[in-house]
Amino acid sequence: MKKKYAVGIDFGGTNIRLGLVQRTSKGIRVIDQVGCASRAAGRPQPFMRSIRQLMNILLRRHGLKPRQLAGIGVGMPGSVNTRQGLVHFLPNVKGWKNVPVQSKMQKIFHCPIVVDNDVNAMAQGEFFFGAARGCRNAVFLTLGTGLGGGLLINGKPFHGESFSAAEIGHLTYRAGGRTCACGQRGCIETEIGNAYLVKRVRRDIKSGKKTLLKKMIDESPEKKLEVKLIAMAAKRGDRYAIGFWKGVGQHLGHFLGGICNLLNPEKIVIGGGVGQVGHYLFGPLNRTLKASAFPAAARHVRVVKARFGADAGIVGAASMVFGKKSGGKS
Ligand SMILES: [Zn+2]
Repeated sequence: MKKKYAVGIDFGGTNIRLGLVQRTSKGIRVIDQVGCASRAAGRPQPFMRSIRQLMNILLRRHGLKPRQLAGIGVGMPGSVNTRQGLVHFLPNVKGWKNVPVQSKMQKIFHCPIVVDNDVNAMAQGEFFFGAARGCRNAVFLTLGTGLGGGLLINGKPFHGESFSAAEIGHLTYRAGGRTCACGQRGCIETEIGNAYLVKRVRRDIKSGKKTLLKKMIDESPEKKLEVKLIAMAAKRGDRYAIGFWKGVGQHLGHFLGGICNLLNPEKIVIGGGVGQVGHYLFGPLNRTLKASAFPAAARHVRVVKARFGADAGIVGAASMVFGKKSGGKS
């Protein structure tokens, strides 16, 4: 009998979360979760200790033993050798240098362990169980502070020669453009990453551009200028915000047109906050993409919203276990 439970571990900036995930005939769902603060449990030894304790709590609640799981999937915020389950390094957490997470966890739990980068994990959630389910070729893009990506090529997640593929956010969009967090200039992330978008709007408001956003912030100072608020303004008919999203959509459409020419995907899945903007973004994006990609590629691609929201990290990590079992080997 196929094992229907897996645990997905999401190592986020604020919390480390473990979710018990069930595979059903309809798909996948998180049935319970536990967690702790990443700050206290971030380094390798405390991390392992916390995972052990949290696994105990989570499984005991449901009367399960680790060997009854299809496996444990781990999404790490950094560079991972997926073949060996080795965490090379984490840019934002100290102490991680070539840590064999897979073998360490296998010794503790005696069940299959899959380790990957967190964005790749989220991508696999969408590829195997979400918006790109059933596709053979798809691209995943998460639009947040940074711009992360994942690739599905010929039915398998693609990691590249040394596990650093799909860094879509760091493709050059404007030669000699703004400096990116990665140290290069003009990466697409510097054009449509959240930080830059918000900065641009703040500058426009300061310079006196007419927009509802100013009133929205003045009326309730607890409202922060963030992507969600700019989306809300567009939905309320603010011409500035609508024009703003049109511009973002055009940039993204143009950029994704190039991705289509390279990879000819069936679907491009957009996750993260910007994915929630709706047709103010997707309309101009689709029109520009169709105009800029080769017709053969443009005809076959659909740009869709990601299915999994707040639990995308947990679902993604667990999906790697289930996906691997059903042949989606990397
Ligand atoms: Zn960059």
